[in-house]
Amino acid sequence: MLDTDFFRRWMTATASAVDREADRLTGLDSAIGDADHGSNMRRGFGAVTDVLEKESPGTPGAVLVLAGRQLISTVGGASGPLYGTLLRRTGKALGDAAEVSLDQLAEAFGAGVAAVAQLGGAKAGDKTMLDALLPAVEALGESVEAAEDAALAGALATVPLRAHKGRASYLGERSVGHEDPGAASAALLVAALAEAAG
Ligand code: ADP
Ligand code: MG
Ligand code: MG
Repeated sequence: MLDTDFFRRWMTATASAVDREADRLTGLDSAIGDADHGSNMRRGFGAVTDVLEKESPGTPGAVLVLAGRQLISTVGGASGPLYGTLLRRTGKALGDAAEVSLDQLAEAFGAGVAAVAQLGGAKAGDKTMLDALLPAVEALGESVEAAEDAALAGALATVPLRAHKGRASYLGERSVGHEDPGAASAALLVAALAEAAG
């Protein structure tokens, strides 16, 4: 079973990964966006780490709802509301259970990812974070490691795609040949889940 501490570790492991990889994320965004994705994610998850220390939420759902709210209020770019919605909706779907199973997490994360698709209007193959998140949801029922692999493969598979949503879509054909920054950060979020479990 996954307890509150597991969810805190997931968030702090994400913050560390985003911090470590901020330059790479910004580099990807400089090719097909406005070169701020690394700094957006670093600022957002840094604030998440701070608020989790200050407020000590007492359930898995409360950890994710608080983290999501913090991302929405600290990240101005497209990724703030999208990641914020992902975590908030996943947290709400977990309810107020003190511990959750991997199956329950997989179902809740599926609801979170569906909320991202609804908010942003993107679907699989549009070259967004969803291209990493959707395969991760599919694999999560099996194991966190399978989800990590699926998210990474999904992010790398955005390279040959043409963007249909977000800033990168303004480039049309010229968005082809670059990994989507949000898909790359989504792979870090899912890898952090495996790190928190291990
Ligand atoms: P901004 O584009 O506002 O500068 P970021 O650079 O932080 O915001 O985030 C860009 C990422 O957000 C993209 O790489 C993409 O993965 C994701 N994104 C943008 N628009 C959408 C959308 N409509 N649906 C899903 N993801 C999106
Ligand atoms: Mg950007
Ligand atoms: Mg921006």
